[in-house]
Amino acid sequence: MADRPHQDREVDLVIVGAGPAGLFAAYYGGFRGLRVAVIDSLPQPGGQVMAMYPEKPIHDIAGFPSVRGRDLIDGLMRQAAPFDPLYLLGQQATGLHRDVHGILTLTTSAGVRVTCRAVVLTAGVGTFSPRELPAGGSYEDRGLVYFVPRPDDLADQDVVIVGGGDSAVDWALLLDGVARSVTLVHRRARFRAHEHSVARMLASPSIEVLVDHEVMEATGTHMLESVRVADKRGNERRLKCQTLVAALGFVADLGPINEWGLELRDRHILVDTTMATSLPGVFAAGDVTEYPGKVRLIAVGFGEAATAVNNAMTLIDPEASLFPGHSTDQPC
Ligand SMILES: Cc1cc2nc3c(=O)[nH]c(=O)nc-3n(C[C@H](O)[C@H](O)[C@H](O)COP(=O)(O)OP(=O)(O)OC[C@H]3O[C@@H](n4cnc5c(N)ncnc54)[C@H](O)[C@@H]3O)c2cc1C
Repeated sequence: MADRPHQDREVDLVIVGAGPAGLFAAYYGGFRGLRVAVIDSLPQPGGQVMAMYPEKPIHDIAGFPSVRGRDLIDGLMRQAAPFDPLYLLGQQATGLHRDVHGILTLTTSAGVRVTCRAVVLTAGVGTFSPRELPAGGSYEDRGLVYFVPRPDDLADQDVVIVGGGDSAVDWALLLDGVARSVTLVHRRARFRAHEHSVARMLASPSIEVLVDHEVMEATGTHMLESVRVADKRGNERRLKCQTLVAALGFVADLGPINEWGLELRDRHILVDTTMATSLPGVFAAGDVTEYPGKVRLIAVGFGEAATAVNNAMTLIDPEASLFPGHSTDQPC
């Protein structure tokens, strides 16, 4: 590909993945005085939290008895903001190259090249894309959605949700009382979602639940107007529907990261106690890492991000100490 100098960026540290671990790593890089770039293939920061459960309360973040997913991500963004990280969103990190001087270059699907001295991979489960709803046909961006980032946007809409897992049931509960009508269509009789959530949904007088049903067809002249559903005996019904939420799960894939020569195990990156990977200058943190006793939780990812960035710091500046100092010693 032709060189595109206007697309080239130079920073100290590149973070691949703007989930909770990546955003906290961005804060820590800034705190250590590093110029940081954050790359994410999704158009919005927040990783799994914003993509899959922005409205859910999380109960196991240290210091927060309960925090809504969206508020946690907002807080992480505000924490990193004073250090002005460069966000390269909506673009996948596709290539990683290390030259003889130890300079690393990341390339993105948008043709951007970012050079740096160290990389922290916080790629979670990889680039994830929603499982498609075949009957949704061509209604993407015209009524068919895979996420509900802002439930209030669906006020005065008839919403049909498809799926039987946690996301589908959570969206139904969230939209109950917000949307004009909420119907959940699940092709089986049993739900995979948390029992308590299923019980709440079934107890709601305003959520219609159609089990053993499938969405056969979506129709509408320009925007989505209705869906045709059928039960196992072939009995059909047409439901008014301006928004169809396909909550059928995700396909996750490390994608190009598989080709970067990292030591991997079961789709995860092996790291040592400094969070260093098998590639010099490349660290990892969060769900993507693997080591004996690994626990995949946000709280763990935060700790790993701090370890990764502080160890990266000693590589970028061999004079720098590993311990960052206490944040309480910094001016407000
Ligand atoms: C429904 C649900 C509920 C959950 N509840 C809890 C809970 O209560 N408590 C808890 O601690 N955890 C919970 N989790 C798990 C938690 O969300 C994850 O542990 C956390 O999101 C991991 O953060 P991360 O930053 O490591 O990765 P992720 O959040 O997965 O973010 C990784 C980011 O990297 C990006 N990416 C990947 N590859 C590339 C690439 N090549 N180029 C550019 N970008 C890339 C992805 O797009 C993604 O945005 C839950 C998960 C789900 C699905």
